[in-house]
Amino acid sequence: MSICQPRIEERQIDVAIIGDGNSRVAIDPSLVEQAIVNLLDNAIKYSDNAGRIEIDVNSGDSELVISVKDNGIGISNDHLPRLFERFYRVDQARSRALGGTGLGLSIVKHILQAHGGRVSVESLPGIGSTFRIHLPNNGV
Ligand code: ATP
Ligand code: MG
Repeated sequence: MSICQPRIEERQIDVAIIGDGNSRVAIDPSLVEQAIVNLLDNAIKYSDNAGRIEIDVNSGDSELVISVKDNGIGISNDHLPRLFERFYRVDQARSRALGGTGLGLSIVKHILQAHGGRVSVESLPGIGSTFRIHLPNNGV
């Protein structure tokens, strides 16, 4: 959150961190931080000013799930299968104007693969998106 703070303030977005912080999984902290920052950066970019973002941490028996939920522009179903490909952008013109290269989500995918985990997405146009990173609970 502190990495994205200047843009959060500029856009007057309300970011809440909820959920429990008690689980322990073995991770590369700088890589997982980069994955979460990429998701948070997207949530800010593809939200209206004064939007709301929730970062939720949930530990289950087999995995730790960190979700980043926004109430921004959303993504229609037909784009979801290709979303994590390098350079894939839903709206070329809009993403270019926002300074995107289309690499963020493919980096997130590779970081999660390196952890034996995965990234998932649920989204509705006009309602918002939830991206989740799933980290296997390796009993640390
Ligand atoms: P970069 O991350 O390299 O700066 P980018 O943000 O355009 O560029 P990705 O992070 O890979 O690229 O995202 C790919 C595309 O998915 C984006 O261009 C955008 O169209 C869509 N997208 C990603 N996250 C969201 C979101 N939270 N809400 C709506 N659309 C999103
Ligand atoms: Mg991005």
